[in-house]
Amino acid sequence: MDAFFGLFFSAFFSSKCLSCDENLRYFGFCTPCWRNLEPRRGSRCRVCDAQFAGPVTDSRCGQCLDKPPPFEQVHGLFDYAGPVGDAIRKGKYGDCPRAISMVAKLCALAIQERIDVSKSMTIVPIPSHWRRAARQRFEPTLVIAHELSLELNMPLNKHLLSRKTHTKPQAGMKAIERSQNLKGAFKATGRSPKRVLLVDDVYTTGATVKSATRVLKRSGAEDVQILAAAYVT
Ligand SMILES: [Zn+2]
Ligand SMILES: [Zn+2]
Repeated sequence: MDAFFGLFFSAFFSSKCLSCDENLRYFGFCTPCWRNLEPRRGSRCRVCDAQFAGPVTDSRCGQCLDKPPPFEQVHGLFDYAGPVGDAIRKGKYGDCPRAISMVAKLCALAIQERIDVSKSMTIVPIPSHWRRAARQRFEPTLVIAHELSLELNMPLNKHLLSRKTHTKPQAGMKAIERSQNLKGAFKATGRSPKRVLLVDDVYTTGATVKSATRVLKRSGAEDVQILAAAYVT
């Protein structure tokens, strides 16, 4: 039954804009939405990539100054409230891997403005929550990681992280609940490469990538950069 709905949804969405549902004769975004596909800009924290609310003193936000996160830097490429966020939701909840592949291609272009892709990093996806993985035909983070690896010519280690415990889905949780929910959630299946580009689809409070980064650092990683396709502001 799930497979039937999956096919239905991917056929349905393939003729509608991934953001505004305008009818299209091709797969992707309509022209106005395509014009809104700008990566995030403006003054942001150079560690967690949060938009600055107040005046910029250091280029780190108050939270990162108070309690430096375990990762080196977050690249929150697109706004979750924009067309890329819409495409991710359609991909994940409409069971449409093509939408996620399209997001990944946009990420491959946007990340090249932010990191030196000639210095190789190993791409590692955040593994899906086990319950979601069982329900879905594909893992969104794995689709993005795989596509990035091809586009950027960087190695992919898709099994380095695994989910250890049955954490609850995070949507709707507060920051503190998220971080408690994820205690001990990941484990490394082997030694981590020194430089890692850790890939997640959506960055909300950072609890997931912080938890995963700590595990990678205990396993040998020295430089962990986070690539989040969409950033919730
Ligand atoms: Zn549109
Ligand atoms: Zn910050």
